[in-house]
Amino acid sequence: MTENDNYGFDTRAVRAGHRRTAEGEQGEPIFPTSSFVFASAAEAAARFAGDIPGNIYSRFTNPTVRTFEERLAALEGGERCVATSSGMAAILSTCMGILKSGDHIVSSRSVFGTTVVLFNNYLKKFGVDTTFVALSDMAAWEAAIRPQTRLLFLETPSNPLSELADIQALAQLAHKHHCLLVVDNCFLTPALQQPLAMGADIVIHSATKYLDGQGRCIGGAVVGTEQLVGKDVFGFLRTAGPTMSPFNAWVFLKGLETLSLRMRAHSDNALRIALWLEQQSVVRQVNFSGLPSHPQHDLACRQQKHFGGVLSFEIAGGKAEAWKFVDATRLVSITANLGDTKTTLTHPATTTHGRLSPEEKQAAGISDGLLRIAVGLEDVADIQNDLAHGFEALR
Ligand SMILES: *Cc1c(COP(=O)(O)O)cnc(C)c1O
Repeated sequence: MTENDNYGFDTRAVRAGHRRTAEGEQGEPIFPTSSFVFASAAEAAARFAGDIPGNIYSRFTNPTVRTFEERLAALEGGERCVATSSGMAAILSTCMGILKSGDHIVSSRSVFGTTVVLFNNYLKKFGVDTTFVALSDMAAWEAAIRPQTRLLFLETPSNPLSELADIQALAQLAHKHHCLLVVDNCFLTPALQQPLAMGADIVIHSATKYLDGQGRCIGGAVVGTEQLVGKDVFGFLRTAGPTMSPFNAWVFLKGLETLSLRMRAHSDNALRIALWLEQQSVVRQVNFSGLPSHPQHDLACRQQKHFGGVLSFEIAGGKAEAWKFVDATRLVSITANLGDTKTTLTHPATTTHGRLSPEEKQAAGISDGLLRIAVGLEDVADIQNDLAHGFEALR
């Protein structure tokens, strides 16, 4: 497919990136090969010198991985995508490819916990400092920017409180200060939110979540311009080697074919569960950008096509009550993963955010009564009936 710009999202999701071989296959092939052969010594030399394009070695390029990359780039509206071995490898490769010692990052405080560890414990060792700010506080973002700031980094909606960042406003702020805006688009995917079209420079994915959608593989991706992603990030990736395997790339590229169907279904189910949770007497608050009661619901309607599958809610009581609720369920999976067909239930205060001190938890809004649900694709009535076991246990 060479007319990506003219095809709609769903057509690109199904067809972009597949260059049919002489075998005439309908399904995309997997190329499980570590290296590639050349017709002659001269061709080998020309490929190594970069004088002619073509595959050399699967740490650099692989046709199945390329199909996934071209398909995701077409969906995010980016010039270039590079696939990585995990979502964390995507974030690391972006930082290593673009930053140098002395540079500074301003990051939302409400990002994936391991991202905070990467910035604080590892990038710091190499002279890259990070300042964390409240996701929706524009004044705090601007105040944290220094002459050395190179990246602004965020996720929206945030996990687990579903706070939003105004991507367009932050892109303008970033560019005013000659910084790049990096958006981890894991929670909504390009089916529901396209940060590049709103001015972001780089989109990050943990493909492990909704791009796969069925909880099978670990993978990641970086999408952006030819210069930033095709040269700077890819340069690090092909050297350091956190590349995606062709088997995983095949799973992910098939996942993209059903992405918008699944994201719509996750979103519809989550909205129904969120509205139902709001009616439960022991529920103090439901955090979901699709609810009219959400303080940034207007922004959500403007920058998202729908609201995604992840929500959280706070019950009256603390850890004992929250654990009692979790342990009373029978259908939903007690696991911290998300982006799966199967609904998952987590107690953030003792799992994903368990490392934080009590003060840090309070600052981050992670109360002991908070529970997070990543709503799957089961029947909504069955999910509700199962959560009702949790509410019964609290009576
Ligand atoms: C899971 C996740 C990551 C890390 O991805 P891995 O594939 O587990 O390395 C990064 N960002 C977000 C928002 C995530 O949910």
